[in-house]
Amino acid sequence: MPARLNLVILGKQGAGKGTQCKHLAKAYAIPHVSTGDILRGAVKAGTPLGLEVASVMNAGALVSDELVIRLVDERFKQADAQKGALLDGFPRTLAQAEALEALLGDDGIKLCINLDVPVSLVTERLSSRRVCQECGAIYKDSDIEAISGTCANCGGDVIQREDDQPDAIRKRLEAYERDTEPLLSFYGSRGLLVTVDGDQSPDDVTRAIEAVVHDKGLA
Ligand code: AMP
Repeated sequence: MPARLNLVILGKQGAGKGTQCKHLAKAYAIPHVSTGDILRGAVKAGTPLGLEVASVMNAGALVSDELVIRLVDERFKQADAQKGALLDGFPRTLAQAEALEALLGDDGIKLCINLDVPVSLVTERLSSRRVCQECGAIYKDSDIEAISGTCANCGGDVIQREDDQPDAIRKRLEAYERDTEPLLSFYGSRGLLVTVDGDQSPDDVTRAIEAVVHDKGLA
């Protein structure tokens, strides 16, 4: 295994990045670093950071590059990230990708997986997505009656995220196309990009990603 296994998982909102990262983090014993989760945690805890970003996030816009780069820099200094990390939702702009390269130096990103899912499917997934406010478990709107609005894992309230409302979904997908899609060329030109079909069962997507990581001799 290389000194550090830093993997970037790219893909539209709703492509399944979070679900895949949870499996892959266990498989490779590296932390799942989701800037969205870190920011949502700050909003929920009502910290100064959370108060600063809440309205931007609820509207489906991006928070500043400077702020997320600082968060990731701090996260990389923690003990569990010394063997690498699975990056989910970061980088999201070219400026963030360049800052990440500078941050990691020679032992940088080993692979970028692009989880490819059509816009129509992610829109449907995001609109029907419900999440546990406590543990982040993901449900579909059709599950809500069966669980009486309460998380089967932890008993927390299962809600619809503000940014999973139609207007915010549209804004987030526009931001993806404008700010994040250029990263496909960024990582492609470095020979680091592999596209995986995200329109398969979650288990099949996991198997496809693990096969790529294995074929590249990364784990
Ligand atoms: P996510 O859960 O990754 O969809 O992120 C939720 C929200 O957090 C996004 O819509 C942004 O407002 C903010 N966010 C998360 N990651 C980033 C990032 N790398 N750059 C800017 N904003 C971010």
